Amino acid sequence: MLMASRKMSKPFKLLLINPINQHRKGLLRDKHAIYPPLSLGIIAALTPSHWHIELLDENFEDFSFRLADLVAFTSFTSTVNRAYELSAIYRARGIKTVIGGIHASMMPEEASAHCDVVVINEAEGVWAKLIHDFENNQLQTFYRGKWQSLEGMPVARRDLFHPGYVFGSLQTSRGCPMKCDFCSVHTFNGSKYRQRPINEVLDEFETIPQQRIFVVDDNLIGYSKQSAERAKEFFRGIIARGIKKDWFCQASINVADDEEVLQLAATSGCRLILLGLESEKMEALKDVHKTLNAKRGVGQYAEVFERLHKHGIGVLGTFIMGMESDAEQDLTNRADYIIDSTIDAIQTTIMTPLPGTGLFNRYLKENRLLYTNFPSDWSKYHFGEVVFKPLTMSSAQLSECIRLQAGRMYEPKSLKRRFMQSLKLTGNAVTASWAYASNLQYRNILFEHEKRLTIDDMMIGQQFSDNKENA
Ligand code: SF4
Repeated sequence: MLMASRKMSKPFKLLLINPINQHRKGLLRDKHAIYPPLSLGIIAALTPSHWHIELLDENFEDFSFRLADLVAFTSFTSTVNRAYELSAIYRARGIKTVIGGIHASMMPEEASAHCDVVVINEAEGVWAKLIHDFENNQLQTFYRGKWQSLEGMPVARRDLFHPGYVFGSLQTSRGCPMKCDFCSVHTFNGSKYRQRPINEVLDEFETIPQQRIFVVDDNLIGYSKQSAERAKEFFRGIIARGIKKDWFCQASINVADDEEVLQLAATSGCRLILLGLESEKMEALKDVHKTLNAKRGVGQYAEVFERLHKHGIGVLGTFIMGMESDAEQDLTNRADYIIDSTIDAIQTTIMTPLPGTGLFNRYLKENRLLYTNFPSDWSKYHFGEVVFKPLTMSSAQLSECIRLQAGRMYEPKSLKRRFMQSLKLTGNAVTASWAYASNLQYRNILFEHEKRLTIDDMMIGQQFSDNKENA
């Protein structure tokens, strides 16, 4: 029997929803800590023009029911419960819901119990078919995307993003050949480092309204000479087109191998680079298969920081607390290392086993996950809570230890000293102020029950505030 097509008396309406973790609502509403939902902007761009599209972004507005023909969610592990909750509201009214993103891709069966359709992996290759199937009443439960070329990738519909986002975001590559134990990027985006053509990236860059940009790639420089040359082409293009923005990105420590990469990055507006350092201890790096850092040795870190500083670029160093071999003394040592280092902005997170990672599978097998009432317990998997049983101490001890060390690392006087150090080492007020703002913001997230610190509280001075505003 032929299925009837949906009648087109008016344009179809697609409602895109960016859900937030309700338990961490206040923190995630910090306008400096959040970035536009790029994936939903891309979904909007992939949707045919006879659809009317709205974006309900919980980063900026409370949910209130809006009628739609189809509702689509993106979500991370920590926000998936909210997506399921909102999906139930729509399904109760007979409105079909779709979920995609990294969590749904790793847990498709679970997601299919809460949403009518699950997009597994990247949506670009399957979204047109999904829309076609919806219009013809032939929706399937699963659509599995392939890792395809990024050439001709649609430009995200930024007109749908809330104007309150301080940072714009841009993606130039996907995929990672590394296999860090705690990371699901290689599972979600594949092990091949795929790159967008630079002209397409630059054209998109020019459309971003914000003055500050986050380049969301997991490693903007990539892992080969070719990818480093491509990055240089990108930076040269920004300069040649006269784009005057301040931007930051993520990279591995190999970013410092090529002096010209750093020089061009800085000239084109790079102010800060996030480096996944994870630990200053070799054994811990090996524990988590952080191969690139382990091969080069932690002794190289300081030289990498110095090279970035020489070009006025700050280091945003990320570390993990609660690695397999971490005893109490190791956590103290890590905090000592960070405090004494020349890193400009610090981000320490608690080891968190997310679905799709080797770590999650191992902890599950070893019965070491503390919270397994899924999906409800996913809301605890947000990097700020110990959700596993450590080998060297109890979970409560680990939690207390991390809290103590965070208190030392994010102590206001220490952050102020770090700001002065950044200013001296980078010679760049914008870099130093970005790093400082990041430290304050992260402190506020970690110590949510204490008074929020602002730049004014820290009495760095009006000159600093002026610099920040001009950034
Ligand atoms: S942490 Fe970074 S380097 Fe490691 S697998 Fe993930 S994206 Fe790749």
